[in-house]
Amino acid sequence: MISDREAAKYPFLNDAVTYVETLGLTLENLVDPSYTGVLERGERRVSQAILSGEATVELEDTLTELLSFPVANMFITAMAEEYLFRRYALSEAARAHELLKDEAEERIAKLARLEFGWDLRLVQERVGEKLYRFEAHFKDYLKNAASFREPEWKLVNRLIRNGYVLLTKRDASRLLQEEIQRRIGSLVSKRRRISLPDPLRIRVNNLQKLFDENRSRLTGQALPTKLLTEALPPCIRHAFQGLMAGRRASHMERFALTSFLINAGMGIDDIVKLFASITDFDEQFTRYQIEHIAGLRGSRTRYTPPTCSTLKTHRVCYEPDRLCERIKHPLSYYRIKVRDYQRE
Ligand code: SF4
Repeated sequence: MISDREAAKYPFLNDAVTYVETLGLTLENLVDPSYTGVLERGERRVSQAILSGEATVELEDTLTELLSFPVANMFITAMAEEYLFRRYALSEAARAHELLKDEAEERIAKLARLEFGWDLRLVQERVGEKLYRFEAHFKDYLKNAASFREPEWKLVNRLIRNGYVLLTKRDASRLLQEEIQRRIGSLVSKRRRISLPDPLRIRVNNLQKLFDENRSRLTGQALPTKLLTEALPPCIRHAFQGLMAGRRASHMERFALTSFLINAGMGIDDIVKLFASITDFDEQFTRYQIEHIAGLRGSRTRYTPPTCSTLKTHRVCYEPDRLCERIKHPLSYYRIKVRDYQRE
């Protein structure tokens, strides 16, 4: 039976997952105010993955730390951003790596053997400056070191004895980090639709906004400066065409269109011209509103378009196509289409 502290330290372990399952928590339980701390920590784990790429270790309240892990996994799965699956898994694995560095060799060996099935033995051998504490079968070594670029990890640069690679404690912890990253990645990247109650959905939307604000920094996927109208999602295309045709649009539709155009890289002047030329809006008033949405006035918050679920609620979602089934945000649709066009 795993202790609360161990489960909180390594919540991806099979015993920790089983322990959480025995608690029988449901989504309805989680919206109860007594779980606010768990939701906050879950949201923080994801935001740390987005902002710094490494989750912190917070063991003051072990149950909160433990339960926040499946909550964070759920948030990541609900966001359905492929890039984030990997970054989140890396962030959590880096957190585990920090903890592993302080573990006894016996604990590390047990974890590697029982949890990940490594063929690993404890040894004690000093060679020059290095103290080797483990020897791992070369297959386990290669499975985890294959992606490392540094020469020290190349098999030809390692000490090998009868098919076993000698490892320092630092080496073993680093290789385990890879194993942990793969496990967490497989936990969150399963394609499934999750229907979340509003209080949880609001947190997912906050995280989506944070990711959108940091997307180009993280992924290098800057959008083209000129709007690619062929890549517009159906809802925005409909709003755009409606505006051109002089159709009256709801407040939500206008907000979605304006914030979309701003985030898709259209210049403020061009958006003002677009609105002013085809409506009877006062240009100064229009500019003020657009600059407000762009974060140049008022609270200085740059707004992103609402998510698909909000647009559906407000009947702005229009004739969603097959790509719409895979995304949760109009900007995600646009990014995928732009990338496809750029490839072509
Ligand atoms: S699913 Fe999303 S992107 Fe597609 S039309 Fe609806 S709101 Fe727009």
